[in-house]
Parts: sequence; structure tokens; C-alpha cells
Amino acid sequence: MSVQTQQQPATKPGGTSCRRVLIVGGVAGGASCAARLRRLDESFEIVVFDRGPYVSFANCGLPYYVGNVIADERKLLVASADTFRRRFNVTVHTDTEVVAIDRDARAITVREVNGGATRVEPYDMLVLSPGAAPIRPALPGVDLPGVFAVRSIPDSRRIRAWIAERQAKTAVVVGGGFIGLEMVENLIHRGLSLTVLEKLRQVMPPLDPEMAAPLMEHLEAEGVQLNLGDGLARIEQSDGRGLLVVSESGARLPADLVILAIGVRPEAELARNAGLRIGERGGVVVDAQMRTSDPHVWAVGDVVEVHDVLTGQETVLPLAGPANRQGRVAAECIAGRATRFRGVQATAVVGVLGMTAASTGASEKGLRRAGVSGFEKVYLHPGHHAGYYPGAQPIHLKLLFSVTDGRILGAQAVGTQGVEKRIDVIATAMQFNGTVHDLAEAELCYAPQFGAAKDPVNLAGMIAENLLNGDMPVADWEQLGSTDALVVDVREPDEFAAGHLPGALNLPLSQMRQRYGELPREREIWVCCRVGQRAYYVTRFLAQKGYRPRNLLGGYTTYEALRAAGLVS
Ligand code: FAD
Repeated sequence: MSVQTQQQPATKPGGTSCRRVLIVGGVAGGASCAARLRRLDESFEIVVFDRGPYVSFANCGLPYYVGNVIADERKLLVASADTFRRRFNVTVHTDTEVVAIDRDARAITVREVNGGATRVEPYDMLVLSPGAAPIRPALPGVDLPGVFAVRSIPDSRRIRAWIAERQAKTAVVVGGGFIGLEMVENLIHRGLSLTVLEKLRQVMPPLDPEMAAPLMEHLEAEGVQLNLGDGLARIEQSDGRGLLVVSESGARLPADLVILAIGVRPEAELARNAGLRIGERGGVVVDAQMRTSDPHVWAVGDVVEVHDVLTGQETVLPLAGPANRQGRVAAECIAGRATRFRGVQATAVVGVLGMTAASTGASEKGLRRAGVSGFEKVYLHPGHHAGYYPGAQPIHLKLLFSVTDGRILGAQAVGTQGVEKRIDVIATAMQFNGTVHDLAEAELCYAPQFGAAKDPVNLAGMIAENLLNGDMPVADWEQLGSTDALVVDVREPDEFAAGHLPGALNLPLSQMRQRYGELPREREIWVCCRVGQRAYYVTRFLAQKGYRPRNLLGGYTTYEALRAAGLVS
């Protein structure tokens, strides 16, 4: 949370007030900074430079403009240069690139994109918000006509024109991250057949693989061809007018157009050339007030490295929310306040063809990569609202938390309804250092069509509490193949017959009280059901009868996701 106290504005050597603030990049971070600074202080001269033709446009809406969901390009323009001038007395120079920073002279060199004339503009304070550029790997064919990245309105316009002129029928999207998947959805809206080529064995890299599994299943069910675990080797012009995407494994994927969405990298060249400190992840290093290694230069948005509050490491997080908040923090600091950026926990959401995937905080693989131990996880698959009310849809939810104190470390959810609401609640709890006990007790709104008296968020907290306080010993899915335990499936026989764990014995919950004596006392009993709830009842029952039961959390539904992700056999 930010702390606000009044400070004196910085002063120039010689004692005069610093009054001229130049901002490089006028979209998410830059525009927020300009507008906030004006609201705080009328006396600054504020000038924004953007090398593109627009400022303050909705990058996040670009895929939907390609898909014609947003049909009118003007809807993407949140505020124009004219709006900035009239409303905020902020001068905006579009089509004007900042090409150099002279920190000693406190001046930048700008070049007019159309015409090439250059001039020098002095500053008292400089804010860099140049964003991040799509990565274009140095591979043959990436610059061929018909190969696009999506960053600007003109990019989207070119893709739309290409689809229309070529009557495009097929597309390959290289990269299965959130921009890639949004493009998949929107190109399908335009009637194209889609193939995704992705180097990892999963889409949506921020998710753990088993949480991405339902999303991948959904994409395939919608007709998207997934070429996973395979990278881009080159793009060729095929016979006729099409393209051929050739993968590292030799797959040859024909396409009328190709979208490169393999990630972005901070546009830090300007800062690097000016001698500002650059971090290991290639972003500009800033302090909590978004100040760079030069006290007269701030940097915000996709270009900076940010502190991950969960792993304690510096990272890059190219998302609009942090960029906007950082722009605001920089403005407040320039205006003399001591506001601080709290760091990030990576809260994000993507919607693809009716399915939503959202996450906050660390993933399990992220925690392991960062060397964090002492955490546990639970899986659950509750309905998005009360089961008795028509239309309840499952939410697949994974919660990661500290074993020592129950502090929430991360959550991921996938489903068709109510997914982002649950992740937002958990994200907010995390920002207040919330624990699983806080989730169990969270008072959330409920009526049958919106949730349940025990909301999925409450359930996640309660299951985690049961695990922590020993009420519900859990089994480790990864050890399923090597355990001596007896796996007991407590679903009804027809459910069991439709699919079950290798070697499992079927003893339904409905017969457990009569037949539990058939179970061996000398072995651990690993209990499985469809989603973990019946297994929990049986775990509690058997524990009180002197057995050593463990719940296979999330049940057969989790097993199928783990198996699809190759994490269990
Ligand atoms: P930008 O908003 O990219 O602005 C940088 C501006 O600086 C650009 O206009 C650029 O032309 C200009 N510039 C760069 N260098 C110079 C220079 N030397 N001189 C002058 N001008 C310069 N985030 C989400 O949270 N949710 C989403 O759904 C989402 N969807 C997205 C979809 C797409 C297709 C894209 C591309 C991004 C999406 N993002 C999303 C990410 C989000 O848009 C960015 O994180 C955010 O815009 C970053 O803000 P920024 O100010 O750092 O950079």
C-alpha cells in the first residue's frame, strides 16, 4: 500500500524550482503519469513524446479490434493529444521519437518521425515509459510480408487489411502466452483456422502445467491445433501466396498469416545508452519511487524491473495495471510526495473462446525455481455458484500457501464462469498478507446465482486449513506411481467404470460404513473421488476408525489434468 507524505519538489542546482517534466511514451504509464502530475500540480510544464501516431490508446483492446469485436478503431483511443492539451494543459508530440538522453545537460534529442528533423528539449525531470517491444527472433523469414506482431493500432490495421485482401483462411500463432491466445480467439472470430506453435509443453506459461491442461483441452475442442514443445525454426514463402511455418522438429505448417507472440522485451536502449542502470532481466532498475539510477530520471511500465513481493526477486511484468500505478507513483514523487510502489505479485487473466484462466502470486514452478520450500498446495473444483441453481460451471482452482504460517503464496483458476472474481479476492487478501485462515473466514456476497454459502474462496481456505491442522492428511500425486499405499476410489461403480487410477479398489462412500473392515489396516489408504470432497469425508471417517488414510486432493479431475500435463502416468 502506498504511503503519502508531502516532500519538497527537487530543485535545480542553483536553487530554482524544477518545473519542466518530459515524458517519453504516452500510453499506459506515460499518460497516467502526465494526467496525475497535472492533477497534483498546475505549475509544471508537462510534455509528452510518442513516436507513434497516438497516445493513450488501448493496447489491450488491439486483439479485439483485429477480431472485429471492437469494430470502430476510434474506440481504442482513450484520450487524444487534443484532450491532453484541453483537459490537462499537457503538450503531446506524436510521431516524435526520443533518440538520446544527455543526462549531464539534462536534455533529450527528439526526431520527427515524418521528416527526420531533430531538436533538443531540456528537462528538469524526465520520465521514461517506452514500453516493451515484441521479440522478433533472428530467424529466416520473420520479416516476410504476412508475418505480424501486435503492439500498435497500425499493426492491428495491417493485420485486418491482410485478412481482408488475402481472404486469409489459416493462421499460425507462434507463442501461446496471453497475447497469442487472445489473437487465436480473435482470428477464429474472423473465420480462420488456427495453429499454435509453442516451445513449452503448455500454453499460458505463468500457470502450472496441470492448470493449463483444461485450457488446452478447450482450445483443441474448439478446433485449434496445438503444436507444443516445438519452437519456430523459420518461415518460408510457400508456392502461391501463402507462408509455411517450419518448426524445430520439422513440422511444416501452412498459413495465410503468422502472428509472432513469443513475448516482449523492455525497450531499454535509450536508458542503456544514457548510462542508466539496467538489471539482469534487461529492464531499467528503479527504486520504490520509480526513480532510476539518475535522481532526475524516472522510469515506469514495461521498461522497468519490478520487485516480486512473493519470491523476493526482481522481475519484468508487462501488464497494464502495474504500468498505470507506476505512472501515478512517479507523478506523486515528482510532485514531492513519498508514495512508493509496493512491488508486484503478477495478477493476470486471459479469456479464450469462452474459457477464463487467471492467476495471482507465485506458481508452484515459480516457487521451485526461486528456491522457495516449505509450501503446500490444494486443488479443488467447485461450481461457480450453488449446485442447486441451474448452470453451475466448475472452477478448477489451485492454492499455494506457506506451511509455517498459512500465508497465501499464489492461486490459479481456470473455468468458464466466475474465475477472475475468485482470483481477485485471493489477490486482495494476499496484498494484506492474508493467510488461508483469512480465506476460510472471508465474508463474501452470496445468492444462488452468484456463488455459494461456502464460496470457492472459502472452500480453498478451509481445505488448506484442514491440511495444515492435520484434519486431512493428503497424498502426494507425484508419488502415485511409487507408493505402497492402497488407492481406494470412493465414487459409485458407474463413475469408477468410466475411468479410474491404475490399481485402484472401488469402495463407494455409500457403502463405506458397512464395508470399511475389508480395508487392510497395515497399509496407508489413499482415497480418491471425483473432486476430493467424498474422499475428504472418507479420510475423516477412516482416520477415526484407526486407519492411516490420505486424500488425493482434487480427485480424479486433478489426476486427469496432471496426466494431461505429463506430471503423473
Ligand atoms: P506502452 O503502453 O507500450 O507505451 C509505450 C509507448 O512509448 C508506445 O506508444 C511507444 O510508441 C512509445 N515509445 C517507445 N519508445 C519511444 C521513444 N524512444 N520515443 C518516443 N516514444 C517511444 N496488459 C494487461 O494487463 N491486460 C491485457 O489484457 C493486456 N493486453 C494486451 C494486448 C496487447 C496486444 C498488448 C501489446 C499488450 C497488452 N497488455 C495487457 C500489456 C499492456 O498493454 C502493457 O503492459 C502496457 O501498455 C505498458 O505500458 P507502458 O506505458 O510501459 O508502455
